[in-house]
Amino acid sequence: MRILAIHAHPDDIEILAGGTCARLAAAGHELTLVTMSDGDCGSREYTPEETGRIRKGEAAKAAALIGAAYRWGGLHDLSIFNDDASRRQTTGLIREIRPEIVLTSAPSDYLADHEMVSLLVRDACFAAGAPNYRTPSTAEALTWIPHLYFMDPIEGLDREGRVVPPDFVVDVSAEFALKREMLACHESQRNWLKAHHGMDNYLVTMEEWTRHRGQSARFGYGEGFRQYKGHPYPQSPALQGLLGLA
Ligand SMILES: [Zn+2]
Repeated sequence: MRILAIHAHPDDIEILAGGTCARLAAAGHELTLVTMSDGDCGSREYTPEETGRIRKGEAAKAAALIGAAYRWGGLHDLSIFNDDASRRQTTGLIREIRPEIVLTSAPSDYLADHEMVSLLVRDACFAAGAPNYRTPSTAEALTWIPHLYFMDPIEGLDREGRVVPPDFVVDVSAEFALKREMLACHESQRNWLKAHHGMDNYLVTMEEWTRHRGQSARFGYGEGFRQYKGHPYPQSPALQGLLGLA
């Protein structure tokens, strides 16, 4: 199957769904990882242009570790809005990638960029099948609505700090070392997070989260997802089926 994982910034996919993407890629599925932003604000040392270039390079390296393609969605940090131009752009991207399954960010999360990507992708999955909806891309409209899934919000909490329980947890114990390697590709972020978020341990924080999520399902390490089942969206458990959960 063609599967798209799309989130806001370089490193979000690795933290929230890296192990699941690794599992799916190893099973022979065609994975594309997209970051809507190039992460251009994630530095105190480099200009936005330099930072964006470095971070896209890190994201591409992480994707390559599991044989996935990487694409940038054309937007920038703190500048992701659910507006007309961005929705058309996201729809064009989905028509080009033509996924059957889409994994995206949670609708409620600590940062608006994450929430905006969730809204853009949800509606773009619907709009991708409407030929009269014009996009900057000339790719043909889809003849289906992709199965849509939300990753966990960061730390499993919505923007008011309430716990968001997943519909199901994917066992990524066997893929955890690879997931860690993927996140380690984002070298520029270790220094930035230390300076800006006061987080001294990028990889350890991810490890603690993945272990915590796994333990809720009695796995060593896990990643949680919720399936979006709004009116016309596919209801069947396509992703769960690929992962032996349905
Ligand atoms: Zn992010």
